[in-house]
Amino acid sequence: MEKTFIMVKPDGMRRKLAGEVIKRLEAKGFQLLAARVLSMSRDMASEHYKEHQGQDFYAGLIKHITSGPVLAMVWQAPDAIEVARLLVGHRNPLKAAVGTIRGDYASISAENLVHAADSPEAAAREIELFFPDVKYDSKE
Ligand code: ADP
Ligand code: MG
Repeated sequence: MEKTFIMVKPDGMRRKLAGEVIKRLEAKGFQLLAARVLSMSRDMASEHYKEHQGQDFYAGLIKHITSGPVLAMVWQAPDAIEVARLLVGHRNPLKAAVGTIRGDYASISAENLVHAADSPEAAAREIELFFPDVKYDSKE
């Protein structure tokens, strides 16, 4: 079993796709361990996306992720990180395969509905950033 961090971004929330994201993860066998709706501060957004600082899309990315509430979640499944990335699809919605969340619902490259951690290190860091108060049993 592995835990991962998945977030419905402000565009996904505005388009009322939070339920669809949850439904797809549950249908795949993922278990929801924690969830909260929040509006990210600029500080939190720059910490979350610090690997992208300096990129030409960075300012737009921070503006978008702070533009409204997000749904932050911790999910558990076998190989959760890799499988969640497959379910979410390619970063560019125009290249995302049909059947993936981005492939089925997104068409604007900067608005791709969902974030999913891309490595065990990122998952641990992101879970700690969004859920500092939640302690998980390491044997789980
Ligand atoms: P992913 O979200 O699939 O992990 P990245 O980590 O590469 O993708 O990028 C993080 C986020 O930054 C993307 O989801 C997207 O919102 C934004 N982004 C990345 N690259 C671009 C780009 N070339 N143009 C616009 N937005 C981008
Ligand atoms: Mg990423």
